[in-house]
Amino acid sequence: MKIKVNENFSNIADSYLFSDINKKIKAYKEKNPNADVIRLGIGDVTLPLSSVVIDALTKASLEMGNKDTFRGYPPEYGYDFLKEAILNYYKRFDVNLSMDSIFASDGAKSDLGNIVDILGDNDVYIPNPVYPVYLDSNIMSGRRVHFINGSKENNFLPMPNVNYKTGVYYLCSPNNPCGAVYNYEQLKEWVKFAKFTGSLIIFDSAYEAFIKDRNLPHSIYEIEGAKECAIEICSFSKQAGFTGLRCGYTIVPEELMCGDYSINKLWKRRQATKFNGVSYPVQRAAEAALSDTGIKECQKNIEYYMENAHALSKLFDEKGIYYTGGKSSPYIWFKCPNNMDSWSFFEFLLKEANVVGTPGVGFGTQGEGYFRITSFGTHEKTKEAIERLRKIL
Ligand code: PLP
Repeated sequence: MKIKVNENFSNIADSYLFSDINKKIKAYKEKNPNADVIRLGIGDVTLPLSSVVIDALTKASLEMGNKDTFRGYPPEYGYDFLKEAILNYYKRFDVNLSMDSIFASDGAKSDLGNIVDILGDNDVYIPNPVYPVYLDSNIMSGRRVHFINGSKENNFLPMPNVNYKTGVYYLCSPNNPCGAVYNYEQLKEWVKFAKFTGSLIIFDSAYEAFIKDRNLPHSIYEIEGAKECAIEICSFSKQAGFTGLRCGYTIVPEELMCGDYSINKLWKRRQATKFNGVSYPVQRAAEAALSDTGIKECQKNIEYYMENAHALSKLFDEKGIYYTGGKSSPYIWFKCPNNMDSWSFFEFLLKEANVVGTPGVGFGTQGEGYFRITSFGTHEKTKEAIERLRKIL
């Protein structure tokens, strides 16, 4: 062919992290067929959907099979019933949203990747380490990317810096992979900085439902002025176990203006052109997840995962190993012992304890020497893994 392709794709690093991990486990098991390998690298939920969600999903699916209740294309921005449920959910954090600022999506990943469509040629600032979608989607569209570094010094919560200029800033809290959560003061500083420099914050709150500490913000809109400088992207994936159902939402406040341009209008235009909405049964299921009973049931699953997280954190406390996360997040991010690099520690853990996690360097160069484990396994497997880790750490 003689057409031109988007050559920016050649600038994205190939994503081999999880396939490399799987290859290493496979090779190890071939050599040690009796090894009982425990996976603490799981980034997906493992508990089934709650009964409230399943009931709503079933009822809505049956409606689709009846002439009187059948529904065709959903509204591009989401049904009002779901938007109202989201609006009411935010009232729990004393945040008042307008219906027009809420956009239902098929998950946070799509909107995090698509948001670049409405933004021009800006400098883009991305945490290092972090969930890789922000970086890859910006490189695909040829943006100038700078890193804002996480480290032990800032507890993996990068803060504004005099060297940072006007641009688009991605923040993830609770953070994947580090599990760290920004507090009110830190987010206030970010909002102040964004307003002072005329920057936009893209705030990924996919794990907000894991926050238990009342002193930590669930939404950037809990900070005064944030509606003038931030887009928030959230998901039902981890809150309600929707990784297989697919539903999320994006908040683009009407207050977000860039000169004469309304960012809200640009996003509406983008979605109306390129997105045809989330299926009716899935939106009903998401609505049910945000009902009082739905929230209670979903929180039970989160509590199950958090029991694992707390048990794992206790081990690192006991061993005096530096870590972040595990308190308001399903992730625990720790310093590899004896200054091992991330992959050497992966090998060591697999060989000595038959336990698998994720090398921190896979989330950015600043993750070298660190390691991520997750709390999405069963209590039994996690307990067993902790006993094995206790012996080798
Ligand atoms: N944001 C973060 C920080 C994530 O870790 C993930 C998934 O792991 C997502 C977004 C994607 O969420 P969704 O399943 O809604 O696409």
